[in-house]
Amino acid sequence: MSNSDELRAKHYNEQEPRPCGEAECDEEAHTQQQIALAGWQAGNRLRADGEEDPLRIGVYICRCGGNISDVVDVERVAETVRLIPGVTIAKVHTFVCSDPGQHMISNDILEENLDRVVVASCTPFLHEQTFRGAVARGGMNPYLYEHVNIREQASWAHKHDPEGATAKAIRMIAGAVGKLRYAQPLEQIKLPNHRRALVIGGGLAGMKAAADLASRGIKVLLVEAGTRLGGHLNQWGKVYPSERTAAELVAELTQRVQHDPNIKVLLNSRVTAVSGFIGNFKTAIESRHHSASMQSRAEVTVGAIIMATGFRPYVPRDGELLYHSQPCVLTMPEFIQLLSSVSPDTKKLTYHQQAIRKIAFLHCVGSRQLDGVHEPGANGRLNTYCSRTCCTTILQQALAVRRRFPDVEVFDFNQDIRTYGRGEENYYSEASKAGVVFFRYNGEEPPQVHRTPSRRISNGALTVTVKDALTWGQELEVAVDMVVLGTGMMPGQIEDLIGQMKLATGEDGFLQEVHPKLRPVEVAVNGVLLAGTAQGPMNITETLAAAGAAAVKATAMFAKEDVEVHPYVAQVDPALCHGEAQCVTQCAYEGALKLVEMEVDGEIVSRAEVNAGLCVGCGACVAVCPHRAINLNGWRLDQFEAMVEGIATDLPQPPCASELVSIH
Ligand SMILES: Cc1cc2nc3c(=O)[nH]c(=O)nc-3n(C[C@H](O)[C@H](O)[C@H](O)COP(=O)(O)OP(=O)(O)OC[C@H]3O[C@@H](n4cnc5c(N)ncnc54)[C@H](O)[C@@H]3O)c2cc1C
Repeated sequence: MSNSDELRAKHYNEQEPRPCGEAECDEEAHTQQQIALAGWQAGNRLRADGEEDPLRIGVYICRCGGNISDVVDVERVAETVRLIPGVTIAKVHTFVCSDPGQHMISNDILEENLDRVVVASCTPFLHEQTFRGAVARGGMNPYLYEHVNIREQASWAHKHDPEGATAKAIRMIAGAVGKLRYAQPLEQIKLPNHRRALVIGGGLAGMKAAADLASRGIKVLLVEAGTRLGGHLNQWGKVYPSERTAAELVAELTQRVQHDPNIKVLLNSRVTAVSGFIGNFKTAIESRHHSASMQSRAEVTVGAIIMATGFRPYVPRDGELLYHSQPCVLTMPEFIQLLSSVSPDTKKLTYHQQAIRKIAFLHCVGSRQLDGVHEPGANGRLNTYCSRTCCTTILQQALAVRRRFPDVEVFDFNQDIRTYGRGEENYYSEASKAGVVFFRYNGEEPPQVHRTPSRRISNGALTVTVKDALTWGQELEVAVDMVVLGTGMMPGQIEDLIGQMKLATGEDGFLQEVHPKLRPVEVAVNGVLLAGTAQGPMNITETLAAAGAAAVKATAMFAKEDVEVHPYVAQVDPALCHGEAQCVTQCAYEGALKLVEMEVDGEIVSRAEVNAGLCVGCGACVAVCPHRAINLNGWRLDQFEAMVEGIATDLPQPPCASELVSIH
């Protein structure tokens, strides 16, 4: 025991059990606690001379500006956890994540000779890395650190039960201290890094990511399934908010991509296989050659993959809002193409030789769908999300119609208008000024499209009916010549790639990032990044920003000769392994675990071996090994046991007048 431990134990032993808050410590419980606490000493390290070397653990409890301390009695938590053997100091701070909070940890490591640190604060998503950094700056191995989330899991979860929240926070910290007793210093794993990126999809996002990477000297293979670069932009005319033609934008980026010696473009090509791991992905690419109707296949090793596979426009079912049953019901992409095909000096808008004098634009077709109101698509799902770009596109097109063909009346049917981007609200105000007539419906009662009865046909062949909220729910009928369905975005059809790379999708079916704010272009598979609308509906500005961010992330990955990944991977003890392969069968990550032959005591035996690059640290292998021969670094079985013991052990009530370090 260290001096302070001895003093503390003496202090505790000499104290008569006395009331502390509402609880009374009785003699028997006191003895039980002493036994349990003594058991905890077992985790202390043995020095080379065989003597025990007690741990010196620092515990830091954050008030989180009241988020925690308004509910959890943080002072009592500190007083109590200070009694755990091995805990050298327990401090309370208003914001441990602040610079002074972090300095406190680094300084204490140096001055108090700490060798383990626990921070009890908010979610590890926010600040685990912050505190690992503070610990490393104090000269300690950053993996001798435990993060305890007493905000989301104690003060927020039990805000009406301060006593319970405080007791839970104490047990959670005691669990972390227990786990730390068996922690071992770990190092980031270094893997070879092939300085070449594969970008899948040659739309705006793919081209931007490829061009940015290449400008930093990184070789890029850009694989596009179609016959040309540019993706959906090839179908649009002038695009908001710049009102430049989409063709100009595509041409500018195509120029950059095709003339950069660092970029190789493969058109008519698809990625058919992906294996490996960050820095070292093995991919197979198949290309079709039109002239010779031949296929070729290439195998390429790349360090990073950028998913820029884009979106699919929503296509209404036959008969949905009379689509495909009436020629003058068009989707938005079809209408944009119609308008682009009309020569600038044409004065009258016609379609199939019919004069178009009244047009209705319907918002949210295929987006923001509601159960019981809309029918699920072929995939059995409703598109409940907002496609984000349709409102501005509709207003832009409505305004263009009014300006080019002032005789054409335009009606807009919306449940609300979401022109969220910079400058986009102007389209709404300009469209209003230009005479576009707006109707607002409740999402549960969307407008319907009917054929106009023949006797009223001179008003327009189609009638839109709506319960209009702007006229206090009046049922209105508007006869028009054309209906334009404001169709939104659907996830791309990339199930093959999702399966090969084990990518996650959100409820909306788009590729899912790790964290929308903190890691917005990364996925759970290291080395795979997201660019553009493969991740969800985005306009051009957002697509370019996301693609730029993915390129920056990939560049940072290539900055080092080796790729460094976290050390939480499985590790096999060949001395305990019997080569029975339950772990290999259980492993869901191809190649992460395999049996290899090795010589033990002159005999050739099979033993499990981990590929650290492919292991994601899920622990499925650990659970099935009957010999405890496989463990997860940082989450070893002995650590789990000590953690559970820590949580389950009743701690003594703190002596009421103990010294407490509280920093404001
Ligand atoms: C009707 C409509 C109008 C719009 N108008 C505007 C506007 O005016 N202003 C604005 O800011 N935004 C607008 N947008 C949004 C804009 O279209 C998108 O932001 C942009 O197209 C996204 O580019 P992307 O590269 O992510 O996707 P995409 O344009 O879909 O490109 C993806 C590319 O990946 C390729 N691909 C897909 N799968 C594979 C595969 N497995 N292997 C290889 N290649 C593959 C595709 O062939 C395609 O070339 C509009 C959207 C819609 C629906």
